[in-house]
Amino acid sequence: MRKPPPRHEPLPIEVRFHAGYKVNETNGCWEWRKAHHNHGYGAIGWKLPGRKKRAYLAHRIAGHLLNGWDLFDPLMFCHTCDNKQCVNPAHLYRGTNSDNIRDAFARGLMKPYRHHRKLYPADVIYIRKLSLLGMPHRAIADKYGLFVRSVTRIVNRHQWRDVV
Ligand SMILES: [Zn+2]
Repeated sequence: MRKPPPRHEPLPIEVRFHAGYKVNETNGCWEWRKAHHNHGYGAIGWKLPGRKKRAYLAHRIAGHLLNGWDLFDPLMFCHTCDNKQCVNPAHLYRGTNSDNIRDAFARGLMKPYRHHRKLYPADVIYIRKLSLLGMPHRAIADKYGLFVRSVTRIVNRHQWRDVV
């Protein structure tokens, strides 16, 4: 009787991980060269025992394999190097989403969304009404995601003059 052909076993995760990046000599980043998630992070497929095969973020695999972090840790694996493709475990730390966002702000990567808030005439009318009713500009700014000075400009009609 012929033996059935050996079932194709995927290469161990460590092998696939270390084959997936190139070391950037300038900054020490291990830059992921294989598949990417649409947000720019590296991705790697893995079938864990008792779980369906799925794609994991490559830098989470790095933190898991090389730093011993729990892959399912609710904390984010953040980059000190701001390089989303980087899977160098020495460039990773665990943090909350707000750590991540705070860090990005601190490093000037993100503009506060307050800059981008689009207002409509109806908002302007309401903002002026709230101010007339005695709501502090700071509170209105928070409610609308605006800078206080923008609220002041609207209330004093330096902006949106054409809206009554
Ligand atoms: Zn890096």
